Amino acid sequence: MQVHPLHLLALPLVFALSGLFAAAVAYDVIIFRRRHRNRNNVIYRCSSCHHIYAEVHRTPLARCPKCGKQNEPVRE
Ligand SMILES: [Zn+2]
Repeated sequence: MQVHPLHLLALPLVFALSGLFAAAVAYDVIIFRRRHRNRNNVIYRCSSCHHIYAEVHRTPLARCPKCGKQNEPVRE
């Protein structure tokens, strides 16, 4: 049985593209799960120490875990 030289070049290409496709699918799944998990989080930014933190429940003011200052949310 004779193997065409073009097939020897195409086989690694197919493996590489399959690997890239699998990596893209895994990336999408991971990002989707992370966004879904953080969907209800509210982001706060401390006005005195610039620490960024998130709270699960939306409150008008949330205490900074680093310095204790009360801050307003920056994202709905
Ligand atoms: Zn702070």
